[in-house]
Amino acid sequence: MIRLDGVSKRFGDFAAVDGVTLAIRRGEFFSLLGASGCGKTTLLRMLAGFEQPSQGRIFIDGIDMAAVPPFRRPVNMMFQSYALFPHMTVEQNIAFGLRQEAWPKARIKDKVEAMLALVQMTSLARRRPAQMSGGQRQRVALARCLAKEPKVLLLDEPLAALDKKLREQTRLELVNIQRQTGVTFVMVTHDQEEAMTMSSRIALMRAGAIEQVGTPVEVYECPATAFAADFIGTANMFAGVVGDGGASPLVVACAELGRNLVVDSPPLPAGTAVTVMVRPEKIAISRDLPEGEVNRLAGRVKGIAYLGGSSIYHVELAGGRQVQASQANLRHLAGRDFSVDDEIFLAWHPANALVLAQ
Ligand code: ATP
Repeated sequence: MIRLDGVSKRFGDFAAVDGVTLAIRRGEFFSLLGASGCGKTTLLRMLAGFEQPSQGRIFIDGIDMAAVPPFRRPVNMMFQSYALFPHMTVEQNIAFGLRQEAWPKARIKDKVEAMLALVQMTSLARRRPAQMSGGQRQRVALARCLAKEPKVLLLDEPLAALDKKLREQTRLELVNIQRQTGVTFVMVTHDQEEAMTMSSRIALMRAGAIEQVGTPVEVYECPATAFAADFIGTANMFAGVVGDGGASPLVVACAELGRNLVVDSPPLPAGTAVTVMVRPEKIAISRDLPEGEVNRLAGRVKGIAYLGGSSIYHVELAGGRQVQASQANLRHLAGRDFSVDDEIFLAWHPANALVLAQ
């Protein structure tokens, strides 16, 4: 549905978007994820036609967009502020774009009814924006964008104005609406949890460029780089050098730990500098020396962050290095195993770590 070929956008000599090549499939819920200032919004605005690329080409549904102005593109954009007309009712807001395009009256009526049903706002059709909650306004804005039957809907931080609880509920609603309509959604967000729970695929951006594209499972379980591993979720990373032989499983000498780590990974030349990455939930905590585990480290619990369903244990190793391990709180309070200052062991299976190029 969308193809970007070497797209860059420069403001003066600063490249806000830098050589992005990307393909987004029809019917995808695609997210552009990245820290503030990495170029996500600029990329979205180029898709909408509000900015022109300094270099490269954008195709939407097979058509080169270079000479196509925003209002002729088969896209619609939902802004963070929703930009609803305050003096119009919900119905009138949804119908506005259709009237401008001179749709026949009967068709507008049917469309508005269908959109109200889609976003479950039929009973509030006569309200004005000031008489609604933030979540309701968000649904009206969505209905107004979808009414014009765009092939692509661009969403700029669509949930940013909602409080945490509502944001979580609305995620699912948005995904359901996207599935029902089949419209291709491209969403900008800096919230990794939002991108993970809503998207079919995520493009992680860094300084104007794409760091990695993949499904949520791929980017979390198989991050391509140390940056990706660190941005999405929490990652323990140990710098090391591939030891003799370089055969699989890899033996990586970690100077900071003063020991080798073993990782199930394809062979690499001996002497290659790598980073070994282990997610906190892949690390087991035990009081006794875990027999038979090749990757085990002794440490002391320095702090416990209680998150309700799970706890994160901040563990300090002998040399002062901190490691995070998390555990599901499967039992009620009395059954908790570890406290601050306990001497414990951390262990993980070679298949539960990953080797990243440095
Ligand atoms: P945020 O999440 O904070 O909105 P973003 O990833 O969407 O960030 P962009 O808005 O795309 O980032 O901006 C990328 C970079 O380009 C920023 O450093 C920004 O200051 C710069 N930039 C954006 N628009 C312009 C402009 N019109 N003129 C000059 N610089 C700009």
